[in-house]
Amino acid sequence: MIQDIHPNIYDINYFQAIPGPRDIITYFSEDRLLLRKDPEKEVYFLPTMEEFRKLIEAVPEDLIGDYERLFSINEDHVFLLEETAAIDEAVDGASDFILEEVAMIREYENQWMAFAGITARHLYRWKRNNRFCGRCGSHMRQGESDRGMFCDNCGNIQYPKISPAIITAVTSGDRLLMARASKGSYKRWSLIAGFVEVGETFEDTVRREVMEEVGIRVKNIRYFKSQPWGFSDSIMIGFFAELEGSDMLTLQEEEISEADWFSREDIPETPSSVSIAAEMIEAFRNGQERI
Ligand SMILES: [Zn+2]
Repeated sequence: MIQDIHPNIYDINYFQAIPGPRDIITYFSEDRLLLRKDPEKEVYFLPTMEEFRKLIEAVPEDLIGDYERLFSINEDHVFLLEETAAIDEAVDGASDFILEEVAMIREYENQWMAFAGITARHLYRWKRNNRFCGRCGSHMRQGESDRGMFCDNCGNIQYPKISPAIITAVTSGDRLLMARASKGSYKRWSLIAGFVEVGETFEDTVRREVMEEVGIRVKNIRYFKSQPWGFSDSIMIGFFAELEGSDMLTLQEEEISEADWFSREDIPETPSSVSIAAEMIEAFRNGQERI
């Protein structure tokens, strides 16, 4: 899964720092991520501070925003640079830097970099959505001792928003229920998923989402694993569950374009191992759904 970056170590402890030459710089413009192109190959990387300095060497110091340390990978800190028009212009004029849709980093071979990019984007989106206080409208500022955004006018504090979502592999004996979403860009066969609503347990969400999306009941709901999923500012909580009663599917067409039962040998190939859905599908295929 995208967060499995061993032997690299992810450190989310909050402290402030100044970027050194080896540290990683993340910069987003309108939700697009800055990447550096390797001149030898068709490969893109998150730039180090040393590489980033070359991009901004002609930009006046006072037009460059603040750097904020987000987290570390091993000994290297990952910083977020504030979005400014001057940096956007410097990127426009550079041949070896681009601003890209963040979805393109999903399949990076360099997995720790993909994880760092999507995790930085989760924090970037949260900060971007909390520049002003939702209670009184004043400017929010970054706190000094922890990650909260503070409003000095009314005392409101906001911490990063993580939306929990369940993902469920429903089984019936030797068969797995798979579905294709009708919305969004991901159109391959996957599993039933949905956000947890206020007042629900994860198990409640599993029962509700399965009933809403495909019209069946489930029992024996068992936790499998979880996965931070910055693409939707969420954490996915994976469960296996067994069919209870009729296996007849009734689709909720706004959410699901197609759903069916697949026996182990007929399960479609999962193209990558990035998502928890892929790991759960493979676990069922290999008879390893009980961990
Ligand atoms: Zn306020």
